[in-house]
Amino acid sequence: MIRTVIVGGGMVGLTLARLLRARGQDPLVLERGPAGAYQPRGFMLGYQGFDAFEELGLLARMRAAGRDVGKGPDGRPVGIAVDVGEVMRALAEGVPVAYGRSVVALLREGDRVTGVVTEGPGGRAAIGADIVVACDGRASPVRAMAGLEAEVHPLDDAYLTYLSDVPTRQLFGFRYMSDGGMITMLGWPQGGTASRRIDRVGREAATAPDLERFRAGFIELLPEAEEVVRRIRSWDEVRYVEPALLRCPRWWTPGVVVIGDSAHVFGPDTGVGAGIGLQDAHALAEAIAREADADAACERYVTWREPAVRPYERLDPGWSRIGPVAAPPGRPAAEVWPPR
Ligand SMILES: Cc1cc2nc3c(=O)[nH]c(=O)nc-3n(C[C@H](O)[C@H](O)[C@H](O)COP(=O)(O)OP(=O)(O)OC[C@H]3O[C@@H](n4cnc5c(N)ncnc54)[C@H](O)[C@@H]3O)c2cc1C
Repeated sequence: MIRTVIVGGGMVGLTLARLLRARGQDPLVLERGPAGAYQPRGFMLGYQGFDAFEELGLLARMRAAGRDVGKGPDGRPVGIAVDVGEVMRALAEGVPVAYGRSVVALLREGDRVTGVVTEGPGGRAAIGADIVVACDGRASPVRAMAGLEAEVHPLDDAYLTYLSDVPTRQLFGFRYMSDGGMITMLGWPQGGTASRRIDRVGREAATAPDLERFRAGFIELLPEAEEVVRRIRSWDEVRYVEPALLRCPRWWTPGVVVIGDSAHVFGPDTGVGAGIGLQDAHALAEAIAREADADAACERYVTWREPAVRPYERLDPGWSRIGPVAAPPGRPAAEVWPPR
């Protein structure tokens, strides 16, 4: 059996662990955070992640906890708007995870990574592995320590996002603005979110104008968002984010493979990040279960995933907003934020 160490107990790491366990494997999951911690966010589980959830017996549960979005040709929804906490709690059930353990270094024999060094309760420990799977997110310390290159392309825009924990009647609203940026809302049984593109001006400038002006402009552009946006009480509740695309020319080196956000980060228009990461986990679990050695599993993984993931990277709408975005003449005043 391949000795697998999974670094990161986020959505992708937990899914991989469960899929491996379902295949008779015994992976070790190392997570630097405490049990039950996750970043609250508006979340839609895309259809790309459905097969992994179906295999784990969680898809019906997610649909019951959330709301179906659209309908695909197979009759299933194309996405599920669901509280991300529900997803994380369901995935964590029954998976042994070493919480509070950070991976701080890699063990090596020649060019090969042969394990990890962790820090946590009880001090430092060295753990041997045939394969270390980096599921440690976009900043991926493991990717950096393994010397796998990440190309980061900052977008030329920013987003203001609000998250409400009040149930929302409206399911979904989305429009492109005249500069190609998006304004959107999503609602699920326990909450809702609203988000819009703005110029990359920094948080201070973005939140300097009067909040009511922001609310009114948002509702003018996307009336479906009114019940969410009306709940914003102060700028402190609004997140300012400057997104970037991330791609890795290579996904593995002997002893280490990167999947999920540590391998690819898509632009905010796509909403596919988790779905593609869950597919990564599915493919890697199958490759590890089928192959007797770690390198063969990585090669098989890449053969399966390149044709699926690279087109998403190439076609990401974010590419059109790298470099100055031309603001068309006659742009509605509400689209210009902060107002001049
Ligand atoms: C605001 C927002 C909204 C989003 N909405 C959607 C959406 O609607 N649909 C969608 O499909 N995707 C969405 N995404 C993207 C999606 O959330 C990510 O693609 C997904 O969570 C990636 O999961 P991951 O497990 O790869 O990484 P992460 O969730 O980042 O998990 C990485 C884990 O690794 C741990 N870790 C890091 N370093 C170490 C270390 N050295 N040692 C041990 N542990 C470590 C971290 O603590 C963390 O738990 C959204 C993202 C954001 C930020």
